[in-house]
Amino acid sequence: MSGLKALRNLFVLALVSSLGVVLVFACLQVILTGFMISQLPFGHEQAYTWYLQEWQVTSQTDAGFPLHGYVGPTGAIEGLPVPYPVTSHFGFSMDYFAGTKYHTGVDMACPVGTPVTNVMNGQVAFAGYDGSGYGRLVVVENDGVQSFYAHLSRIDVQVGQTVEAGTVVGATGSTGWSTGPHLHWEVRVNGTPVDPMQVTLPGE
Ligand SMILES: [Zn+2]
Repeated sequence: MSGLKALRNLFVLALVSSLGVVLVFACLQVILTGFMISQLPFGHEQAYTWYLQEWQVTSQTDAGFPLHGYVGPTGAIEGLPVPYPVTSHFGFSMDYFAGTKYHTGVDMACPVGTPVTNVMNGQVAFAGYDGSGYGRLVVVENDGVQSFYAHLSRIDVQVGQTVEAGTVVGATGSTGWSTGPHLHWEVRVNGTPVDPMQVTLPGE
């Protein structure tokens, strides 16, 4: 047998065996997940919700104590543009239809018209309608950090305006690509979305 042929056989063997390993793990995963769901004291739909919550809680704890969205001494939720709990977290999540999806910010479900409080000192870089999905959008910028407030019903600021942390920049709504009234809050550092709950903003 020539060296080249032996090498080819070795390659095919490695390929087949690695495929086999992947298949075995995939089967184990399906069996294990099915078993875990069967052990839960509720149905499949609830199991999915439970899994999502567990995953979100775990991913939040792993990243450390949140800089934003904590419960303050008065019992109110602090450090967010609106005083409502986060209903959809940053990053990858399981999606029933799409498999996994990537969320570039955090969502807080809240009534239409809730005042949106800017979270960092800076200048208004955008204030208007965004056609790509954000709807009525305000972007505040400071030293490479951008804070996005999306799906607004009302905008109270103008481009170029200097705003401080605490300034109301608009009110929540459901404009753009949105399935219900909520604020989508997104923070980008040098253009890259980061977890708003963990980021240190300019002035903090
Ligand atoms: Zn969102």
